[in-house]
Amino acid sequence: MKALVVTGKGERPRVADVVLPPVGPGEVRVRIRAAGVCHSDLSMINGTLAPTYPLVLGHEAAGVVTEVGPEGAGRRIDVGDHVVLNWAPPCRECWHCTHGEPWLCAEGGRPSAPRGHLASGEATHVTLGLGALAEEVVVPSHAVIPVPADLPADVAALLGCAVLTATGAVNRTATVHPGQSVVVIGLGGVGLATLIAARAAGAGQVIGVDLSEAKRDLALAAGATDFVVSDDTMVKAVRALTGGRGADHAIECVGRSTTIGAAWRATRRGGQVTVVGMGARDDLVSLSALDIFHSARTLRSSVYGSSDPDRDLPDLAAAVTNGSLDLAPLITDRIPLEAAPDAFDRMSRGEGARSVILFD
Ligand SMILES: [Zn+2]
Ligand SMILES: [Zn+2]
Repeated sequence: MKALVVTGKGERPRVADVVLPPVGPGEVRVRIRAAGVCHSDLSMINGTLAPTYPLVLGHEAAGVVTEVGPEGAGRRIDVGDHVVLNWAPPCRECWHCTHGEPWLCAEGGRPSAPRGHLASGEATHVTLGLGALAEEVVVPSHAVIPVPADLPADVAALLGCAVLTATGAVNRTATVHPGQSVVVIGLGGVGLATLIAARAAGAGQVIGVDLSEAKRDLALAAGATDFVVSDDTMVKAVRALTGGRGADHAIECVGRSTTIGAAWRATRRGGQVTVVGMGARDDLVSLSALDIFHSARTLRSSVYGSSDPDRDLPDLAAAVTNGSLDLAPLITDRIPLEAAPDAFDRMSRGEGARSVILFD
């Protein structure tokens, strides 16, 4: 089968033939119908997440089950089921899983896992246990979540990463209430999905912030009431839009100390800062002890949207189907697998929203 493979740190990804292993006990084979190009895949290519190469990219996808292995433990999955892939399937046995925090599962967090081989015989690894920028995956049955067959595949794919992350950050980590003001910093796929989720949660004012003025129209289409270019005057501009106080919530989707600091200052006294972006180990955020006390703000991180995908993803699918969650503004390109390397180039330049690879 064809898959998007990166052979070494910083190499340009290319389409290659990959041979997957047979479907083992408790595993399923899924024919991928659509897969998103996510920023975490870029972090796999440039080595930030330190995966093992050669690596099959992709972790945000939807498809159809074509084979079910023997004696599958856990959830029953049947051939023909439409599914969304879950890149962080919880073990349901560790301390966090048994204490209501499956997104912090002790078994999660490995950037890549060995699976399959190239035509040359060289062993391949797959991104986050999936490797979903590929015609097929072989994965544990608890890494797939059934969704209605009539859910469009391109939208279904995005539920598994960008949308679950964004809606969880808004509704579960930050707990945005109707009428509150929300500023979202960094308008890539997750940031734009966060704007959509904030509006869906009933937020009054939703302010999108990005370095690029070109994101203004995308932000407004995703439901932002205001757009502010990220520069030295950004915090002032957000305060001016929020009665001089700052926003009730800031949701940071970049993962840099400068934008986390800006999110902190753009939030009102007693407000909440939610960090969705994954940053670097040596990028230190500086807050004064007096400011922490006086501002009375809360700073939290949102890992996989503080969500339980098995519980929350079917709800998202239902919200898309009944029209209460419109994800159309997120998808700016629908392209074949061969065009995926160009989509990574566009993403690294900060252009567009999500590119979705269609396999049908
Ligand atoms: Zn992702
Ligand atoms: Zn666990």
